[in-house]
Amino acid sequence: MTAKIIDGKAIARKLRAEYHGRVDVLRSRHNVTPALAVILVGDNPASQSYVRNKIAGCKEVGIRSELIELPTTVGETELLDHIERLNNDASIHGILVQLPLPAHIKVSSVLERISVEKDVDGFHLYNMGGLVTGNTVFSPCTPYGVQKILEHENIPVEGRNVVVVGASNIVGKPTALMLMQQDATVVICHKKTVDLGNFTLLADILVVAAGVPNLIVPQIVKTGAVVIDVGFNRLPDGRIVGDVDFDGVKEKASYITPVPGGVGQMTVTMLLHNTILSAERAASATTSPFRRRA
Ligand code: NAD
Repeated sequence: MTAKIIDGKAIARKLRAEYHGRVDVLRSRHNVTPALAVILVGDNPASQSYVRNKIAGCKEVGIRSELIELPTTVGETELLDHIERLNNDASIHGILVQLPLPAHIKVSSVLERISVEKDVDGFHLYNMGGLVTGNTVFSPCTPYGVQKILEHENIPVEGRNVVVVGASNIVGKPTALMLMQQDATVVICHKKTVDLGNFTLLADILVVAAGVPNLIVPQIVKTGAVVIDVGFNRLPDGRIVGDVDFDGVKEKASYITPVPGGVGQMTVTMLLHNTILSAERAASATTSPFRRRA
């Protein structure tokens, strides 16, 4: 069997065109331009590159972006003051603080200061907790991107065995919870899992987010499985690879995402989606007699 290679770029392009249309409607009907504020602390080159990508994505679909660059030495109070100002600014619909933050700043304090209704990254404790009950205000972007890929390819989730390799708060756990919400039978594996292959071989849908190149080899993949590779690793020779042995596994799987060109394209796309959704909610709250909960 040779897998269908899922073209994340093409899916993202299609969704972004749709989102551009939604921005046009917001402008023409409500005179609202969705806006995303991005706070970047310090000069980590990887963070700078992620932020550039996010801002370019905003531009592509017509979202206004505001970049706030702060020095590594910024105090937590000053950072929280910036967030508070953005929370109170009705022209801003999404607030994103690029992680990681310098060690002297408590990440949870920062993420929890962002208004839940502007938490377009979906990292606020309320949104994380909402994943358990299926009640988020915003879904976290990478897991949401995985879900959108499955939807786009018409891959059913209900009743299927899903194995998620990786249990981080931003990818593995939320992905598992979102797919469980769709009635999949879900197993989460992590670096202490004994005999990973015992679990991955059960997977109809295998989602891998471990950050370990070549962790998933064909011998531990079920024939016909759908393999979604979230991993993003730079090898010493500069090549970017995922966590899956792509060439080997594509001969055994039914669907597979490449790296690059798979899930990575979807993460920023879902951030754009969440920002537009936030602006739509704000616009309908101001035009509707029934205002949403603050
Ligand atoms: P993390 O380091 O926070 O978590 C890694 C998880 O993988 C942990 O739960 C750990 O226990 C598990 N793990 C590590 N080694 C393992 C092993 N040998 N066997 C089984 N489990 C193992 O990482 P993260 O932030 O969740 O990111 C994971 C990967 O996904 C990274 O490569 C990251 O770059 C990538 N990523 C990609 C996107 C995207 O948009 N494509 C977004 C976020 C993260």
